[in-house]
Amino acid sequence: MTLHQAPGTPGSVLTFRPRYDNWIGGEWKAPVEGRYFENPTPVTGEVFTEVARSTAADVDLALDAAHAAAPAWGRTAPAERAAVLGAIADRIEAHLTELAVAEVWDNGKPIREALTADLPLAADHLRYFASAIRAQEGALSQLDEDTVAYHFHEPLGVVGQIIPWNFPLLMAVWKLAPALAAGNAVVLKPAEQTPASVLHLMDLIGDLLPPGVVNVVSGFGVEAGKPLASSPRIAKVAFTGETTTGRLIMQYASQNIIPVTLELGGKSPNVFFEDVAAARDEFYDKALEGFAMFALNQGEVCTCPSRALIQSSVYDSFLGDALERTRAIRQGHPLDTATMIGAQASNDQLEKILSYIEIGRAEGAKLLTGGERVDLGGALSGGYYVAPTVFEGDNGMRIFQEEIFGPVVAVTRFDGFDDAMAIANDTLYGLGAGVWTRDVHRAYRAGRAIQAGRVWTNCYHAYPAHAAFGGYKNSGIGREGHRMVLDHYQQTKNLLVSYARSGS
Ligand code: NAD
Repeated sequence: MTLHQAPGTPGSVLTFRPRYDNWIGGEWKAPVEGRYFENPTPVTGEVFTEVARSTAADVDLALDAAHAAAPAWGRTAPAERAAVLGAIADRIEAHLTELAVAEVWDNGKPIREALTADLPLAADHLRYFASAIRAQEGALSQLDEDTVAYHFHEPLGVVGQIIPWNFPLLMAVWKLAPALAAGNAVVLKPAEQTPASVLHLMDLIGDLLPPGVVNVVSGFGVEAGKPLASSPRIAKVAFTGETTTGRLIMQYASQNIIPVTLELGGKSPNVFFEDVAAARDEFYDKALEGFAMFALNQGEVCTCPSRALIQSSVYDSFLGDALERTRAIRQGHPLDTATMIGAQASNDQLEKILSYIEIGRAEGAKLLTGGERVDLGGALSGGYYVAPTVFEGDNGMRIFQEEIFGPVVAVTRFDGFDDAMAIANDTLYGLGAGVWTRDVHRAYRAGRAIQAGRVWTNCYHAYPAHAAFGGYKNSGIGREGHRMVLDHYQQTKNLLVSYARSGS
């Protein structure tokens, strides 16, 4: 176990700036109205930096810089853009611990996740799109002997991107990598709860990008996000956040007839068939681990397996073991490498989770473990910690239907395959799902029957760059990850050429 030092303290690998301006045109620019907001760390609840509280005027400056940069960047060779993405990946790896500490301090997640998942995935995502853009080819249709239709990929130009607070760096990279690879310039707005790690990233990688290709404007949703998403000067908006905000983003975009991609909420089912318990072997342990995944990133994951469905015949024994596994989740200082669950990202989120725990109790769900705020003592007493919580109930309850976005799982039982699929699909959402079984035929049928953009089979919470990620139903539109995302950031130019000397 290693306890990393808090930013700005002796022995720490990182010191944040006391104040962050906006990153526009390759330099730090103070917000036009001169206002800043305080950014607390969820680890202790104390303010550690202040950040530009931007308005439409700042968004406009960022759009000016992006428009100035976009034509030249869009004309660069794919190999050149790939080299830039590769250099950013290298830089992230060279500053891995520093960025991990930044992410933990800003977001509250345990450092072992930042070190082993968020940042390596971010670097890999950049390299994946660096390769994908070099491998991309256009298409040619031979219409007749003398007539050819060429299909070229062209960048869209300037795109707006708005991200949430649960994986600040990884979400930023998920959005930036395909957009930049495709030759676009970007204006990105981080979430107001977690702007600092993304801004620190710009301190580290700013020199690698031509000025104006990436611009970061901080601020609140309505004050800074809305002017960006509704601007007639963007050619596309990509958004990750709540479903209710996603609806607004679509409305704004409709005024400008621009494409929208949305990665929204979820209420993902994790389905455990009876044959999982056929033996108490390593597969059984793997399934228990899959159950406990609801607490990964403090449950602040859009694909959190927040509904566990367990087949009746093994319900009691499997749930008993799952509770034991849950109680073994080690909660502690997020900068300690031994910690498995850290702090919720904000005080608002903490209160939302606690209120849902009350809702669960009030609607008659049975609390099996957890269900309370945790005081870790000392400086951490002001932090936002919640114990991993397991409820038992039925799928009609609000805790089964509404996204809590915390370390809370609601468990219910099912009888047969059709029953399981009916419960799994009885939700407005369709982002992720898990299926656990030793029977490949059942796994295949369940995977196809569940209405979700990604169904993990005998695994959960894996996010490789080369697998499409996105939602069915109210969970969103479009995909992230996989080279198909490039389509969301490119225009198709068709050149229809007649090589005939005569005729029309
Ligand atoms: P949110 O919608 O409140 O905020 C997300 C971002 O949108 C923030 O940057 C915010 O400032 C901005 N915003 C808010 N109102 C806006 C407006 N009117 N116009 C423009 N921008 C606006 O969401 P959140 O609470 O920050 O994030 C949590 C949500 O994100 C959860 O619902 C979660 O499921 C979802 N999420 C989804 C994915 C996915 O890939 N599907 C990934 C992570 C998080």
